Amino acid sequence: MDEQQAKERIDKLRDLLDEYGHHYYVLDAPKVSDAEYDQLMQELIRLENEYPQFQSENSPTVRVGGEPLDRFVKVQHRRPMLSLGNAFNAQDLRDFDRRAREGATGPISYTAELKIDGLAVSLTYENGQFVRGATRGDGQTGEDITVNLKTVGSIPLRLKEAVDLEVRGEVFMPHHSFEQLNKVKEENEEPPFANPRNAAAGSLRQLDPKIAGRRNLDIFCYAIAEDQEIGLTSHAKALGYMKELGLKVNPDHKYCNNIEEVIEYVESWLEKRHDLPYEIDGIVIKVDELDEQQTLGYTAKSPRWAIAYKFPAEEVITTLRDIKLTVGRTGAITPTAYLDPVQVAGTTVQRASLHNEDLIREKDTRIGDQVVIKKAGDIIPEVVRVLDDLRTGDEEEFTMPTHCPECESELVRLEGEVILRCVNPKCPAQVREGLIHFVSRTAMNIDGLGEKVIQQLFSHELIQDVSDLYKLKREDLLELERMGEKSVSNLLEAIEASKDNPLDRLLFGLGIRFVGSKAARLLAETFGTMEKLQEATMEDLVAIHEVGEKMADSITSYFSQPEAEELIGELRQLGLNMTYEIATPEASEAEQIFAEQTVVLTGKLEKWTRTEMKEKVEALGGKVTGSVSTKTDLLIAGEDAGSKLEKAEELGVEVWDEARFELEVK
Ligand code: NAD
Repeated sequence: MDEQQAKERIDKLRDLLDEYGHHYYVLDAPKVSDAEYDQLMQELIRLENEYPQFQSENSPTVRVGGEPLDRFVKVQHRRPMLSLGNAFNAQDLRDFDRRAREGATGPISYTAELKIDGLAVSLTYENGQFVRGATRGDGQTGEDITVNLKTVGSIPLRLKEAVDLEVRGEVFMPHHSFEQLNKVKEENEEPPFANPRNAAAGSLRQLDPKIAGRRNLDIFCYAIAEDQEIGLTSHAKALGYMKELGLKVNPDHKYCNNIEEVIEYVESWLEKRHDLPYEIDGIVIKVDELDEQQTLGYTAKSPRWAIAYKFPAEEVITTLRDIKLTVGRTGAITPTAYLDPVQVAGTTVQRASLHNEDLIREKDTRIGDQVVIKKAGDIIPEVVRVLDDLRTGDEEEFTMPTHCPECESELVRLEGEVILRCVNPKCPAQVREGLIHFVSRTAMNIDGLGEKVIQQLFSHELIQDVSDLYKLKREDLLELERMGEKSVSNLLEAIEASKDNPLDRLLFGLGIRFVGSKAARLLAETFGTMEKLQEATMEDLVAIHEVGEKMADSITSYFSQPEAEELIGELRQLGLNMTYEIATPEASEAEQIFAEQTVVLTGKLEKWTRTEMKEKVEALGGKVTGSVSTKTDLLIAGEDAGSKLEKAEELGVEVWDEARFELEVK
C-alpha cells in the first residue's frame, strides 16, 4: 500500500466508523455487528500508527462514544467516562501486562470482571441520596436520565452511608426481559431491538420514564470515580465497599496475582458466559492498585491501567479471493467462497458457503470483495454481507459455469429449484459424497472410515460404489497412507460389524432423496424388510401418514432403477442385514442412538440448556464428557464454539450443530 492508497483507506474507514458509531451510540440501532466494527477500528488504528502524518483529532480512534442528544439536559462528568482499549487474545493481554508493569512504579496485580454489554451510566449520590444519573455521552458530557434510572429497581435511591460519590455502572437488560420485550414489539408489528444492549440503551433514553419502568432493566456497578479520594487503595476493595453501600456489584469478579491468572479466568468464561442470564461481550481487566492506576494514567480515549478482552468474533471481515464450485451427494452445485484465512468464533475459516447463484447476485458478491463471514446456527461458515463501500474497483463479477466442474456434464436447473444440479449419476463427485454419507454416523456408522479415508480409497480406485466397501482387502488397505496393521484390522472389523445394522440405517445410507434418518426408520418399521419396501407402490407409501407424494415418488423411482436393484442384490449377497425388528419398550436399544458414544457439548445453544441436552444424550445411551480427545465420538457445537470445535476438526471427530441434534433425537 502506498501513501496515497493508505490515505484513501483511512478516509474510507473513518467515514464508515463514524456512520456506524452514530447508529450505535446515538440512534441505538447498530448497522453492523460489534465484531465488524472492532475489526475496522483495529485496521484504522494500525494504519494511523503506520502513517502518523494522517492522524487527526477527529478520528474515531481518539473520540469516545457519540454526541449527547439535545432532548436531554446535559451533565458534565466529574471525571471523564472513557472507553477501553481492546485485547483479542492471550498475547494482547500479555502485551498489556508488559506495558503496565513497565509504566508502574511497583508490583501490580489485577482485578478481572465481566464486561456487561449494556449502557455505561454515572450515578451521583449526595449525602447518600441518589440525586443524578447520566449517560456517558462523549465522555465529558452525558445526558441527564435521572428519572429513567429511578425506575431501575436495583439502583438504590439511598445508600447505607451518607456519602458523596459518583458511581459508575452498566445498565443492562437481562435475556428474559429482552425476549419478552421483542415479543411484545412483534405483536404490535414494531421493529424488534437488535440486541439487549440496544434495548437497554433505547429504554434509558426515552423521554417518558414510564416506558423505561416497564422494561425490567438491571445494573451492575463497577467503579467509584473518587475511589482514591475517599481513602480506598485497591479496586477489589472498591467493589467490596460498593456492595456494603447497597450497590449491586457483579459477584463474578476475581482478584488475580498476575496476567496468567487473568488469562485462566478469561478462558474459563469462554463457554460459561452462555449460561449467564445476561449478555457479556468480554472481560475487563484492571490494575488493582489504585496508586498505580494513577501513575499509568490515560490516553485521550482510554485508561492505560485497564483493557477489555473481547470474546472471539462471530462475524469477521476478510477478502474473498475466489469462488469455486462443489458438487454434493445429490448433484447440487454449491458455490464456495475461498477466503483469506481468518479466525471466526475461535476457529480458522478459509471457505464459506455462498449457497446458490441467486444469492451471489442478490448480495452482488464479487471476487476480491471484502466480505463479512459468520458461522450462523450452523457450523458451516457463510458470507453474510459484502462491504461494497470498501471496493477499490478491481473486483470481478462471478459467472456461474454451465458444466459440472467434476464430470463436465451440462448443469441443469430443475423446476422450482434455485440451485444448479449435475444430473449425471456417475459423476465421481456425487459418488464420493454418497460414499461419505453411507459410512457416516447416522447411516452405517463405520468407525474409522471418515471423509479422508473415503477420499483415499476413492482416488486409489479401491471403491466405486458402497458394495465395494465390503470387498476391501487387507493388503489394499495397508497400501494407504497412515494405515497400519492395527487400524486396518479395526477398520475391517467395523465394516464387517456394520453388516448387522438394522434396515433403517442401510436405507438412510443409500441416500434416496428426501429420505432422512427419521423417514428411513419409519419405512423400516412399516415394511419390515427391504423386499417389501422394494415392492411398495405409491399408494402403499402415501398411506403412511408422514410420507408425502414427493418422498413416495422419490422412493419408487429409486427402486425402479436397474442399478439400484443390482446394488441391493449385491449387498444382500455380501451379507448385509435387510430386515428390521420393531423395538419393544423393554428392548428399545435401536432408539439408543448414542449407545456407547462419548459426546462433548460446546458453544451457545438456542433451544436447549446444557443440562437438558446432557440428560437427553444420557437417556439415549451416551456419555457426556468435558473435553475433546481421541476418545470423543461426537461433538455437539452451538454458536461460538471455540477451541473444542477446532480440536474436534483436527482429530476428525464428527460434529453436529443444534439443529442436527434436534432432528436426530426426535
Ligand atoms: P467498550 O465497550 O469497548 O468499553 C468501555 C465500556 O465497557 C464502558 O463504557 C462500560 O460501559 C463497559 N463496561 C462493561 N462492564 C464493565 C466493567 N466491569 N468495568 C468497566 N467497564 C465496563 O468501549 P466503548 O467505547 O463503549 O464502545 C466501543 C465498542 O462498542 C466497540 O468495541 C464495539 O464493539 C461497540 N460498537 C459497536 C458499533 C456497531 O455499529 N456495532 C458501533 C460503535 C461501537
